[in-house]
Formats: sequence, structure tokens, C-alpha cells
Amino acid sequence: MRWGALFLMLLALCACIPRGGERRAPPRAQAPAQGARGSPDTLQCHIDLARENVGFRALPDQRFENGCSALGAVQLLNIGTPVTNLRAMTCPLARAFARWSREAVQPAADQWLDSRIVRIETFGTYGCRTRNSRPGAPLSEHGFANAVDVSGFQLENGRRVTIQEGWNGEDERVRRFLRAIFQAGCRRFNIGLSPDNDAYHYNHLHFDMGRGPYCR
Ligand SMILES: [Zn+2]
Repeated sequence: MRWGALFLMLLALCACIPRGGERRAPPRAQAPAQGARGSPDTLQCHIDLARENVGFRALPDQRFENGCSALGAVQLLNIGTPVTNLRAMTCPLARAFARWSREAVQPAADQWLDSRIVRIETFGTYGCRTRNSRPGAPLSEHGFANAVDVSGFQLENGRRVTIQEGWNGEDERVRRFLRAIFQAGCRRFNIGLSPDNDAYHYNHLHFDMGRGPYCR
């Protein structure tokens, strides 16, 4: 071997050996924040959904302008009852919604309306807006995909019940059904707002997983 080649080999070898002062730990992946995708609470929530036979798809974490985000969100695919307008929901919200639908809505419909629910209608989940869309108000939980607005129910017998018509409507059994599912919602979600809360909620029940409890 020629001296030149040997020198180059030694040089290459030295370059591979880290020198003490310059040794750096490889960049460590940051632990996901609470509620983000991959965090322990979100993974536990996925396990709960799977165990309860809920069909869902985990969505990538998204951050939007104006401070809005959808972290640790899922898309519900099958909770046993079809639901309109459900898009990104934080996993705890989705878990509470699936349980509410199964444990409260269907039984209350059997009890008060003598029919199964074949469709739950909502105004949606994610929306980057302030509370009640008032300028200057804090961001709504909808801005974090952490809220859902329920507007009505399609029954198997062909009847349709809406919050707008039914909450203070003439049919007492519809009024009782809606109050029963609202109260049941307040036990599963952190916050529940009905038409009794304010004029903004005249046509839907708002449920969210923000800081509660509050139910009216
Ligand atoms: Zn709402």
C-alpha cells in the first residue's frame, strides 16, 4: 500500500470517531403533547373506541391560522347509528359521542318515541370561530375540533324530530325525549348547552369537552 492511500484511510477513520467535546446526542423526538396524536391519552382513547366496536380513522394533527387546531382528532366511521356532518373530532369527544348515542339516545327514543333512531343530524364539529361567533370572544371549542352541535333525529317510523321544533314544541313526549338525551349528554360531555341556555342555541344542542362542568 502506498503511503498516500494509508494516510487517506487513517484520515477517514479519524473522521468517524467522535471527539469527546463535540459528541452530540442524536435529536430526540419530542413527546407528543397531551391530546395530540400519539400521546398516551389519545392512544388509550383509540383502544377504548376499538373495544367498543366503534369504526374510526385517526387523523393527522393539524394547526390552523388564528390559533385553531385539530390535535389527536379522529374521523368516526361507524358508531352504530349514521350521523351527518361529523368530521374531525378530538378523540375524547368522539368517544363521548359514540357512548351517548348508544347508551342514551337509542334507549330514550325507544322509551319516549317508540321508534329507533336511524340518523342523528348535526351541524358539524370543527369550525374556526369565536364563541357564538362574537367578535373578540375567546375561541370556541369548535376551533379545536372539541365540540359538536346536534340538531335533530330521523326516526325509523319516518318521523323527524328537531331541536328547533321540538324543544318547546307541543308534543310532550318529544320534549321529554330531548331533555332526557340532553341531561344524558351533560353526564358524558363536559359542557352541554340547550335552547334554555341562550338564544344562540335555539336550534341545536351543543356538547363539548372543554373545561366544565356546565349544563344548561
Ligand atoms: Zn356548538
